[in-house]
Amino acid sequence: MSRIVVLGGAESGVGAAVLAKVKGFDVFLSDNGKIKEEYAKMLEKWKIPFEQGGHTPEKVLSADEIIKSPGIPDTAPMVQELIRKGTHIISEIEFAARYDSARKICITGSNGKTTTTSLIYYLLQNAGLNVGLGGNIGKSYALQVATEKHDYYVLEISSFQLDNCYDFRPDIAIITNITPDHLDRYGYNLENYVRAKFRITRNLRSEDCFIFDSDDAITIAHLDKIVLKARTLPFSQKEELSRGAFLKDDKIVIRYEENESSIYLKELALGGRHNVYNSMAAALAAKATGIDDATIRNSLKTFKAIEHRLEPVLSVGGVLYINDSKATNVDAAWYALDAQTKPVVWIVGGTDKGNDYSELAGLVKEKVKAIVCLGVDNKKIHDAFEPIVGAEKMVDTLSAEEAVKASAAFAQAGDVVLLSPCCASFDLFHCYEERGEKFKEAVRRL
Ligand code: ADP
Repeated sequence: MSRIVVLGGAESGVGAAVLAKVKGFDVFLSDNGKIKEEYAKMLEKWKIPFEQGGHTPEKVLSADEIIKSPGIPDTAPMVQELIRKGTHIISEIEFAARYDSARKICITGSNGKTTTTSLIYYLLQNAGLNVGLGGNIGKSYALQVATEKHDYYVLEISSFQLDNCYDFRPDIAIITNITPDHLDRYGYNLENYVRAKFRITRNLRSEDCFIFDSDDAITIAHLDKIVLKARTLPFSQKEELSRGAFLKDDKIVIRYEENESSIYLKELALGGRHNVYNSMAAALAAKATGIDDATIRNSLKTFKAIEHRLEPVLSVGGVLYINDSKATNVDAAWYALDAQTKPVVWIVGGTDKGNDYSELAGLVKEKVKAIVCLGVDNKKIHDAFEPIVGAEKMVDTLSAEEAVKASAAFAQAGDVVLLSPCCASFDLFHCYEERGEKFKEAVRRL
């Protein structure tokens, strides 16, 4: 019996371990840190041996194949040793797909993955299809393959998961867009990051479909360099296309094979120019799945905003508070500011991932009346924006509660307070979800 060792005991790793067990492998799971109680219980339930708080080399190095969780970088010493030894290392997605014949719609990109994935899932559900949602979102794909049966999967896939995919093949692949992010994991080399994203297309066949943003210069430049067998379906807000999705007057037009349909922008449930892109990508995936126009239109009209993504929280004293805690890079914050039609008090800051704030200068000048920094080190934000909004319109805060109070003091009826931090959350919070939750609690206490 061949031996599989899973590195990392969270959602993805535990799901992979369960699937390996179900498929009759000798499985062992090893985690360098602490395994959460719920996952430890699950491993016990499935009688999967595991260790935590460190890797025992002989237990790990005896593996025939390794399934590595996406959070573990290749530079981790144990991984380095496995690479030296030549052990095959795959991702949970690669492993699970070996045992799954469902049609797969897979979404990657720098921003908009979760929104687009959730939209497509909603569309397929509304069309009455038996569909599972997985990847970086919700329940792991591997666990579903082990314990459920679906005809379709909609999978959100990060570049880290793609790094260890080899034979994995989606039926429909989507790259929402590519902007610099996570470069720390890619040797600060954009080309490496772009190539990691494009791994989603490497096994596509002529009957498969590739959906992409043709306004995105990085995507287009890379597409020119590769040979792609799949049918391509671009989407654009800048030009009319002979096939794909594009803007015409105040409508999204979808051209797919012989058919053309449209939906008014004002009918879309999700606001903001970025969500026009996401809606286009989702509509094209739905068309390529054979879903009818009425269902597509109705779904794009009735979809509900997802938590922490331009999520309206509450109006207090005529000021609307919006939680966009998931905006952890410049591009996401750009779209959040762009979407605002009222004067903005902007809450920004956190762990900077090498941001170039100059890209936001125009929008800040046009829309932002005051800036509340929420982070340990706010120097770059002050340097970038003091000349625009004025030093007296900027304050530093160290908690969501302080930030909300400071914002309320700047705001008047008719304004918007927007938490769209442009940065990761790890200086003051465990994760972006916690930052968003704390923000919402503070707003409710106003
Ligand atoms: P991801 O899963 O790729 O991180 P999300 O859908 O969770 O993407 O959105 C992350 C952040 O990026 C949110 O702040 C959201 O408002 C913004 N965003 C969503 N879609 C796009 C897009 N197509 N382009 C740029 N920013 C986007």
